Amino acid sequence: MCGIVGYYGPENPKDVIMGGLKSLEYRGYDSAGVAILNCGEFKRVRAEGKLSTLEKKLEHETFDGHLGIGHTRWATHGAPVEKNAHPHTVDGISLVHNGIIENYLELKDELGTKAQFTSDTDSELVAHLIAREIERTRDLLKAVLRVRTRLQGAYSILVVSKDHPDEMVAFKTARR
Ligand code: GLU
Repeated sequence: MCGIVGYYGPENPKDVIMGGLKSLEYRGYDSAGVAILNCGEFKRVRAEGKLSTLEKKLEHETFDGHLGIGHTRWATHGAPVEKNAHPHTVDGISLVHNGIIENYLELKDELGTKAQFTSDTDSELVAHLIAREIERTRDLLKAVLRVRTRLQGAYSILVVSKDHPDEMVAFKTARR
């Protein structure tokens, strides 16, 4: 059971997001990470193991932006190592994901060799799909709505885009 936190507002996003992740720590996790806007790009810091390891890595990191996301991961696809920790970032899109995308191999095949994957997760596929749709729509919400119809499984996802620094889009499968 992983944890997802997003923040947009006047406080220091690093502190708010880490505070949120700590309050979700009881759910269990194997790695953690954050992506926070800095100089117009998402600066990503991830770590295997405890939140205290991530906290140490973040100690001297500063962020000038006010939008960020964080995640504690419970691995289902890919080992619990840093390269598989969330957030996943593709072409300015950053996302965190809880759950499983059942048809991710089929969708990954569709993307072909053009898409360069840097993790073994099902989650990164969604970042690639949204990045591709944003190229067409130039609109984060529209891109998410197009991708959402293609995903099968049970999931919650939070996504941000460096080109849409005032927006955060969350979506999940409906409870049946
Ligand atoms: N399936 C995703 C992964 O393995 C998300 C796992 C989770 O819910 O933390 O990274």
